[in-house]
Amino acid sequence: MIFDALVIGAGFAGAVCARELAERGGKRVLVLERRDHIGGNAYDCLDDAGILIHQYGPHIFHTNDKRVFDYLSRFTRWRDYQHRVVANIPGEGSAAGSRVQMPVPFNLTSLETAYGPETGRALGEKLMAAYGAEKKVTILELRQNEDPEIRQVADYVYEHVFVHYTMKQWGQTPEQIDPNTTARVPVFLSRDDRYFQDSWQGMPLEGYTRIFQRMLDHPNITVHTGVDARERLELTDGQIRLDGEVFAGPVIYTGAADELFGLRFGRLPYRGLKFEFETHDTEFFQTHGTVNYTVDQPYTRITEFKHMTGQVKPDCTTTVKEYSYAYTGAAGETPYYAIINLENNALYARYREQADSFPNLYLLGRLAEYKYYNMDAIAARALALADELV
Ligand code: FAD
Ligand code: UDP
Repeated sequence: MIFDALVIGAGFAGAVCARELAERGGKRVLVLERRDHIGGNAYDCLDDAGILIHQYGPHIFHTNDKRVFDYLSRFTRWRDYQHRVVANIPGEGSAAGSRVQMPVPFNLTSLETAYGPETGRALGEKLMAAYGAEKKVTILELRQNEDPEIRQVADYVYEHVFVHYTMKQWGQTPEQIDPNTTARVPVFLSRDDRYFQDSWQGMPLEGYTRIFQRMLDHPNITVHTGVDARERLELTDGQIRLDGEVFAGPVIYTGAADELFGLRFGRLPYRGLKFEFETHDTEFFQTHGTVNYTVDQPYTRITEFKHMTGQVKPDCTTTVKEYSYAYTGAAGETPYYAIINLENNALYARYREQADSFPNLYLLGRLAEYKYYNMDAIAARALALADELV
């Protein structure tokens, strides 16, 4: 069969692009996916207990981008779900072994939980006088404040919410990592205890995998799973060969950039994650969709899928614990989070330069672009690339 476009990877980047090229561009598209399923890291499925789980970590959809929301709404209806997260920390000064939960992002309610209602309220007033009500302030910014009381709050939040969690997640302190990362979870001078304030948020009513099945179900699209594209591609002298034949149409690659070029400049650093799924004989295991362990425990967070998906199952529930580690590329490991800093960006730029020498090669997606993108950002980029190519 003859194809006009080749898409490598069937996550959000690849699937949206494939659909657009097939539908809007009338192109015959071949999609190659290394895993034995489509959906990329957003893939979900039923576990042995019949609970809908996210195999590669919990995914909550949220966006302010109307085009993306409308586009994905062609392939799914949504369950209204507003994600709420609490930090679970050891209680101080009370009975041994007690635990306290407070909203994350740290907000006016968290302040009262930490300091008691009266002092908490007074500190909240002071913060709002300094920054404005309903404002978001990053922890690094808050720590610059010279007022002793505000500084004390900043230190409390740093110690109880950020430093240990960030060390677990990145193996580095908040000062050492890209500031945009901790800025994702600012201190929020509000009573709004939702994790995201985006205009549209929710969960796909029938799960994420269903979105991908519908998106890729098009007469112009052929999907082969269980195929590592690198085994069928050859990139030399500005030309891309598929199974030995020159492929002149657009090639959209959504895997890791270093892998595409045989790691020739060395490995791009990533954090990997180990997921530990547990099924419990109880209707609910915890109070919230996600509970962050910001002070102790070796894992960063526990997510309980039923809170998010709304699945009704009175007899059991499944949770996942996330453990972060330094990705080495060993068999069985998956790169999840690009470690963004000047040195790694410079290394990425060398791979990018290689890619640029192939006029019909496009790097797209969280791995290929070495960026910390949410699903909606990836969908937006895929739509923009399709605009360009169609
Ligand atoms: P991927 O989903 O990684 O897809 C890339 C695909 O390419 C993979 O399926 C891979 O197998 C395939 N591939 C790679 N190399 C090859 C090859 N050589 N040959 C064939 N196939 C190949 N975003 C949100 O918006 N909300 C969230 O709540 C959220 N939670 C997250 C939680 C975790 C733990 C993680 C890691 C990410 C989360 N994200 C979330 C981000 C989200 O996962 C990404 O934005 C999205 O998956 C990016 O899509 P992608 O297509 O770029 O990459
Ligand atoms: N973070 C933290 N404590 C928290 C939540 C987040 O220190 O309770 C920091 C941490 O560095 C994390 C970053 O903020 O990596 C971004 O958090 P987010 O929840 O957006 O991460 P993701 O869901 O993408 O893993």
